[in-house]
Amino acid sequence: MIKILYHHDKSCPILICDICGKKIENINNGSVAFRLSDPQGVYLVEGDLTDPLYVHSGECFLKAEAKLGEMQATGSEALSFHLYYLARNLGLGLEKYKEVEKDYEEFFEFI
Ligand SMILES: [Zn+2]
Repeated sequence: MIKILYHHDKSCPILICDICGKKIENINNGSVAFRLSDPQGVYLVEGDLTDPLYVHSGECFLKAEAKLGEMQATGSEALSFHLYYLARNLGLGLEKYKEVEKDYEEFFEFI
């Protein structure tokens, strides 16, 4: 889940693992799991919505998969691809990204 961490008078968005509750520290240690079917096993169709679980790769991902209904009922993406797709779906193109990156470098620090 996305949370806001107040840190040095700044509002810093972070990802918390939906399984263990700890911060996902690095893009390379995160995954996204989601249902491909409803709880009755009927596969999703065009226009259906499903909630993602943001999790650590490895053990937390396996627990997320089990929670959602095992591998055949779930989909997954590497966190890096998921966040990139999300940003693109919201219209974050290269020019806007550069603008945001400049703002980040001026006002934030890596937390
Ligand atoms: Zn975790």
